Amino acid sequence: LFQSAPSAPLDPIMRLFEAFHQETRPDKINLVVGVYTDAQGRVPVLRAVQEAERAWIDQARPKQYRPIEGTAGFRSGVQRLLFGENTAVLQAKRAATLQSVGGTGALKIGADVLKQLLPDAIVAVSDPSWENHRALFEAAGFTVRSYPYYDATRQDVRADAMLDALRGLPRGSIVVLHACCHNPTGNDLDPAQWRAVVDACVQGGLVPFVDMAYQGFGDGLEEDALAARLFAEAGVDFLVASSFSKSFSLYGERIGALTLVSSDPGTIGRAEALAKRLVRTNYSNPPTHGAAIVEAVLQTPALYDAWTEELAGMRHRIHDMRTRLVQALDAQDLGRGFSAITRQKGMFSYSGLTPTQAEALRARHGIYALDTGRICVAALNPGNLPRVVDAIADVVRG
Ligand code: PLP
Repeated sequence: LFQSAPSAPLDPIMRLFEAFHQETRPDKINLVVGVYTDAQGRVPVLRAVQEAERAWIDQARPKQYRPIEGTAGFRSGVQRLLFGENTAVLQAKRAATLQSVGGTGALKIGADVLKQLLPDAIVAVSDPSWENHRALFEAAGFTVRSYPYYDATRQDVRADAMLDALRGLPRGSIVVLHACCHNPTGNDLDPAQWRAVVDACVQGGLVPFVDMAYQGFGDGLEEDALAARLFAEAGVDFLVASSFSKSFSLYGERIGALTLVSSDPGTIGRAEALAKRLVRTNYSNPPTHGAAIVEAVLQTPALYDAWTEELAGMRHRIHDMRTRLVQALDAQDLGRGFSAITRQKGMFSYSGLTPTQAEALRARHGIYALDTGRICVAALNPGNLPRVVDAIADVVRG
């Protein structure tokens, strides 16, 4: 039977992730995967998360099945995070949120919902984008195209080219948009560019699918929600995939949420029922632990305050590492500037390293970065920065 299984290579991130684990040099450094580590190089367990976990264990609650869509407290907490307290879209009951298996699970359930409603639609993703976007939407049966996003020469967003491409898409096309902290480039649209993108989607009858994997890592929880809030104000039908992997440092708990927003409150129940049906026929209902933590933090003011403070701490630390990285690289006099790295947001940076340089970084120094030159700045710390800088300088000099 399985002899006929088609070969299914891992995507480059997972391939290098596995290669890193097999790497034997003790001073190896992983700049491949999108995981935040603290100044000591550890994946933090946030204080707010620890408190929520302790309280949960003390309550010794029965490990019951959860509702297919997740609990009401989790769902309302996610909606508040996305749209703000009592905003018009929530008052009008135009949004339905379902707990998901990480941000990826939200994208997949959302893709399956869209496949049922718009079976022939084209899906457009940014060029470049997170590797899994194309694979996931193709796996859901869609034809996937890309829209221009990044100008490697200017190391900035190609907003005009992006808008032209969006305006050229057939009505009913699905557009996947990174809400903030664009993965892999780190280059985001500014508020005026977002308004133009929202306008192009509204005018062109496009269906936005906002991927919000890094809320709080860009400029702040409110600021990073701009795209979702603008689409909500515009009154269009759209979807949001939230991930709490990074913002709560809950990677392995696989916790996220899919939010469907309808222009018409009369249809949101149907949309939710369809999504629930898809969950039921995939994995029946979602897991408890991560959702219980996120719900407790979002619904308990003291925990919420502690969390936002820790999140700000992570955001500021990444920004600080960007500044230090650029200063140290510029001091090496490598014949090119690196200041674009400080304009980028979130965990990733398009460093400008070529595939050959990235390969040399791995081979000569045991430092793992993607061949595209993407590095995870959130994995840098004062301890490993000097070695990373020396290694980059070495491979850039050739
Ligand atoms: N979307 C983007 C743009 C991402 O970078 C990631 C994770 O790296 C995800 C979605 C998926 O997040 P999760 O790990 O919660 O599935």
